Amino acid sequence: MLEIKKNDAVVVLAGKDKGKRGKVLSLSREKGRVFVEGINKIKKHAKPSKSFPEGGIIEKEGSLSISNVMLVCQHCDKGVRYRSTMTEDGRKVRTCVHCGNVL
Ligand SMILES: [Zn+2]
Repeated sequence: MLEIKKNDAVVVLAGKDKGKRGKVLSLSREKGRVFVEGINKIKKHAKPSKSFPEGGIIEKEGSLSISNVMLVCQHCDKGVRYRSTMTEDGRKVRTCVHCGNVL
């Protein structure tokens, strides 16, 4: 089974950002956590640093459980289940179970 990857478009299935969409920024398969652009923003206190000389409060994405996001099919325009399919040249791709679109 092919999994969610960096830069995938996903929709959030649970929590305060339920229904929102974003792009996968990074993920940890070992921990089962995923960071999605603009989702689950948390405020953090930052000490002044070289890149952030003022210090203060910064907003940052918090991680979500991978099981709480679903891959978005652009064709179906919603979160979908997918299957892995072998292409004619032997590559594994993820295809939408509804429309067959390669995700
Ligand atoms: Zn689809």
